[in-house]
Amino acid sequence: MSSPWYELLANLAILSMLVLIWSNARLPNIVCPQIVRQLGFGLLLGIGAIIVMLRPFEIEPGVFIDSRTTLVAVSGLFGGPVALIVTAFCAAAFRVYLGGAGVFAGLTGIGLAAAIGVLAHALKKNDRPSTRGIVLFSACIAAVGPLSFLALPHAKLSMLAPGTLIPIAIIAFAATLLVSLAVANETRRRDAVLKNHIYKTVIDSLPDCLNVKDTEGRFILANPATAALMKAANADTLLGKTDFDFYPPDIAAAFRADEQKALQQGTAEVIEQQVTHRDGSTATLSTLKSPVRDDAGRATGLITHNRDITAKVHLEAALAESERKATAALTNMADGIIMFDKDLRVVFCNEQYRAMFPLTADLRVPGTPAASILYASIARGELINIPADKATEWVNAACSRLRQPGTVQFPLFDGRWIESRTSPAADGTCFVVCSDITKGKQSEQALRDLNMRLAELAETDGLTGLLNRRAFDAVMTEEVARVGRGEGALSLLLLDVDRFKAFNDTYGHTAGDDCLRAIAECLRAVARRAGDRAARYGGEEMVLILPNTSEEGAVALAHELRNRIRALDMVHTGSEKGIVTASIGVATLANHTIGPDAGRLVVRADEALYLAKASGRDLVRTWEPAKPKLVRAKSNG
Ligand code: GH3
Ligand code: MG
Ligand code: MG
Repeated sequence: MSSPWYELLANLAILSMLVLIWSNARLPNIVCPQIVRQLGFGLLLGIGAIIVMLRPFEIEPGVFIDSRTTLVAVSGLFGGPVALIVTAFCAAAFRVYLGGAGVFAGLTGIGLAAAIGVLAHALKKNDRPSTRGIVLFSACIAAVGPLSFLALPHAKLSMLAPGTLIPIAIIAFAATLLVSLAVANETRRRDAVLKNHIYKTVIDSLPDCLNVKDTEGRFILANPATAALMKAANADTLLGKTDFDFYPPDIAAAFRADEQKALQQGTAEVIEQQVTHRDGSTATLSTLKSPVRDDAGRATGLITHNRDITAKVHLEAALAESERKATAALTNMADGIIMFDKDLRVVFCNEQYRAMFPLTADLRVPGTPAASILYASIARGELINIPADKATEWVNAACSRLRQPGTVQFPLFDGRWIESRTSPAADGTCFVVCSDITKGKQSEQALRDLNMRLAELAETDGLTGLLNRRAFDAVMTEEVARVGRGEGALSLLLLDVDRFKAFNDTYGHTAGDDCLRAIAECLRAVARRAGDRAARYGGEEMVLILPNTSEEGAVALAHELRNRIRALDMVHTGSEKGIVTASIGVATLANHTIGPDAGRLVVRADEALYLAKASGRDLVRTWEPAKPKLVRAKSNG
């Protein structure tokens, strides 16, 4: 058992065992910090170095060698400085512990191996050294043994035959090469496992379906999303099965035909397909099919990437439908509608809107600023009643109105009226709905006219067209109050047709009415000033209200009126005058009159009229406080 070859084999067995232990050590790459892995690697190789030192190989009587330098250098090359320090420390400490004449030479060997290891680590370009690099590295370690012998004590060195150095170097080279290649391969394998793990995690967590089938259509890889789409329990249950196991035969056959086509074409393609599951539910898929090729370029399978776009397709259909409805609504609505963006530029408008503004329809298109449209509309005379010098102010106000909800009515050049209702949205855009309210406006105007006419009728005497008694009373109340406020005098003329009963009796009631109308015309002719108003007091009695008129002025007007009636020259055989005449009583309220006198103006005029009748008719008389004074009628007849 003491054969040196046995020890050599034992050394190599220990190295193999170390590589085996390391490659099976499941240090989780992702969670375990790198420093811990480096320390672990260094410690493992350090313990290995101690074990190989316990089983040295006696190459010549009294000359022992072992593989510690290989382990120290490999630790440096693959584990970096941290691992190297640990391994080198273990090896050096144990060599010192062993003692003997070769301590210095042993430590020199460890030091040299460490230096080569750390240098090789620094020189390797990526994580894994190249094969050529490993060969060079092993050659360097092979040189360490013979070199370290130079550090042996002279007595011991002289015992060595130079020929022994060659097998020592060869053994070190072989051991280092084997261990390095094994560790490099294992590193490569670990990287591949890690990458696979990452790919699998990505594929498994993908919301889309990803699977690979062989050329016969059998699943060889599938992610959970694929299983969910196919209503399978999990991804593993898909493996080895085909679409025929999951879909109705006709659909599965169609899928298979697509796959075969993709395999034949040899290029990736995206198709949209409808699927119906065995449970009757349907889905729309966007599917990418891409062939997998071997190194010779032969298609060996097919990658399928499915995205369930059912929700998207439904959404698109719903969107298209709602767009269609919205367009139909906008096209068919009676109103015009326009939308502005936050900068008040037109986004869209319907045809009704453009037809409403024929003079600026060319500008009412997407992109035009609201202000430009308004300026043009004013300049072209479409919008009316806006003075040219106020245009800017008006347009600015109109634009700021677009920022807040509200309703505006405005007339257009052709007599139409438009009502625009503005509703701004939170994002700064705004909608304006325009309605043609011309008909409404016309009805409104007609109603106003009618009301005015009714009001007039309510105040007008039907026969003569003068104010009626009710209106007369109202005017008198106002006028008396005005006199009380000191805003001027007030005179009243009260007229009564002479012998009118007889006129009716002689010429008939209709002729009587005509006569009253003619006399009313005379009153209107005399009531020339703005405030003068003529009214029918009752029967054949009429009054003339004369604000700001003195008694003198009123008497003059009374004579004018009397003369105008006479000038009608209406034959009246029933009257001693031979023609139609009238008697007129005049009363005046001086400015500032208040109290009981103010309310008695009509009574006084009536008293004056009575006096005129009593004095012979066809006369004008004024009221006098004590004794009414007789005023001589101007002689026209
Ligand atoms: P006197 O000179 O004293 O005033 O005589 P008179 O006939 O005018 O007297 P009285 O005031 O009594 O007569 C008024 C007449 O006026 C009576 C009525 O037939 C007539 N009369 C009143 N209102 C109307 C009317 O609307 N149309 C017509 N045709 N006659 C009217
Ligand atoms: Mg009368
Ligand atoms: Mg009369």
